[in-house]
Formats: sequence, structure tokens, C-alpha cells
Amino acid sequence: MHCNGNCKQYIAKSNLDGGRYEQGQKRCPECEVFILWDGLWCPCCGRLLRTKPRARKLKNKMSLKRR
Ligand SMILES: [Zn+2]
Ligand SMILES: [Zn+2]
Repeated sequence: MHCNGNCKQYIAKSNLDGGRYEQGQKRCPECEVFILWDGLWCPCCGRLLRTKPRARKLKNKMSLKRR
């Protein structure tokens, strides 16, 4: 299944840099867009949506360890 344009009606406007996942936006790896959608799967292509940013926790942990 590929992008058929359905995602366009759900596309989230980019207002802030970062924090998109916090705003409830999800990214579809197939359509390559951020959409506002309640489901786990893209309403357009059916791919599983990303709901989390890349983990940066490890880095924080390491910096905490350093004095
Ligand atoms: Zn699409
Ligand atoms: Zn999609």
C-alpha cells in the first residue's frame, strides 16, 4: 500500500520546531508527513505511525553521570 493522498486532509501544520509528538502528531514513514490522527495506523497507507521521537534519554543519563 502506498500513499494515496488521503493523509493530506490530516496533515498537521508545522508550527513549532520539535515537540510534534508531544502535540499528538504522528509521523507516517510511508507518506513522510506528520498527521493528526487518533489511530495507530495511517488512515492513508495503513502503515504503523511513529508516536515517539528518537530516544535521547541515554544521552541525558550519561551527562548526569558526569560531574
Ligand atoms: Zn499518504
Ligand atoms: Zn501513510
